[in-house]
Amino acid sequence: MLSLNRQAIALISDHADPAADVGREEAGGQNVYVRHIGETLAALGWQVDMFTRKVCADDQDIVQHSPYCRTIRLKAGAEAYIPRDKLFEHMPEFVSSFQSFQRTQGLNYPLVHTNYWLSAWAGMELQKTSGIQLVHTYHSLGAVKYQSQVKIPQVASIRLRIEREILERANCVVATSPQEQETLRSLVSTLGQIEIIPCGTDTDNFRLTSKTHARAKLKLGSLEKVVLYVGRFDERKGIETLVRAFALLKEQDIQNLKLIIVGGSSIDMPDGDERKRIENIVDELGLTDSTIFTGRIGHDILPLYYTAADVCVIPSHYEPFGLVAIEAMACGVPVVASNVGGLKFTIIPEETGLLVEPKDVEAFANGIHRILFDELWVRKMRKQASANVNQRFSWTGVTIQLSELYRHVLARSIMHEQAWSYKMPIMNKSA
Ligand code: UDP
Repeated sequence: MLSLNRQAIALISDHADPAADVGREEAGGQNVYVRHIGETLAALGWQVDMFTRKVCADDQDIVQHSPYCRTIRLKAGAEAYIPRDKLFEHMPEFVSSFQSFQRTQGLNYPLVHTNYWLSAWAGMELQKTSGIQLVHTYHSLGAVKYQSQVKIPQVASIRLRIEREILERANCVVATSPQEQETLRSLVSTLGQIEIIPCGTDTDNFRLTSKTHARAKLKLGSLEKVVLYVGRFDERKGIETLVRAFALLKEQDIQNLKLIIVGGSSIDMPDGDERKRIENIVDELGLTDSTIFTGRIGHDILPLYYTAADVCVIPSHYEPFGLVAIEAMACGVPVVASNVGGLKFTIIPEETGLLVEPKDVEAFANGIHRILFDELWVRKMRKQASANVNQRFSWTGVTIQLSELYRHVLARSIMHEQAWSYKMPIMNKSA
């Protein structure tokens, strides 16, 4: 539905479709972020159009999420899965599809919020032919990713250049944690405007509920000690570290240990290689009987898994924010996470979880062990974890901050226009 009373804005999320199922290859935190801020911005009074690349001929071109919020799937390359590193060559088509959609709908977005570097490129191209204001969120940074990657893709130098340009040229870049801001300043550029606005979570969906009920629903016994992983299958998520830590706990003869690994698409998708690798390690370590691979689980059922767990483990090598941490804590589950990036911002050590060095198998095993065997401390952490998320990371709170940022950016652009038109006669007079 279009409304004349609402200000239309565009969110661009090139590869991460806000209407897609999350938890599979390419679908993770960015999809969740764009979808939730889109819907909440609409509830706050904006008209929100979210643009993404169409990856399947059977997908609808437009998905209406709520009266003033929709996902628009644009033609850019084949209507098939294309890995992110191969998408740049299709971005010019993405930009022209965006422009023709705008023309046919009679829309003119004064503000565009881009997500990921490919969308940043599209935003800067749009800026060349229109007076749009640009806000950008990175979600992932080439400068960090390439530090630990053995095989650097061909597109790397273009990505690094675009990531610098968007920081220097956007009206504002949103860093989702102070740690991300520091990284941007040290690895990308000292120029440009940065505001820290965190990611959020749906605190009506992820909240404190009965663990007994959740266990009964998932057919898990009350004596089981449940260690949970939720997320994509990607080597940088560090699932191997968790599996090896779990094996160390098993060696200590702890009874009723269960490892639940949630996420991933089918074996024939690109993330299937990592899943196969992890399954082999589980097998080699003799953990098959105590490990469950659930595949992708939607946000409707996911709260049951968090609630049923004793501990949620986030062993990522790097995480700009890490939505899983706040979802788990919102459900009252203490986390053991890598001491990196946004996890340092969201987790309060000893109060809502524990931070340990990434890839340190023994440290993860010790952290998990502490949480599994200190009931009193865990009971306290459960409440603290949930309160921490409610206070700092609800989507509504986060989106209000974004909405205020947009208004500020738009107001500043109008002031600049007025200042310009005011100065003109003075300049003419003195000439
Ligand atoms: N997720 C999900 N189902 C799954 C696995 C993951 O819904 O089976 C969601 C998870 O709940 C979270 C997102 O995917 O909202 C992952 O975001 P995060 O920031 O933790 O990691 P990213 O995927 O962005 O690296």
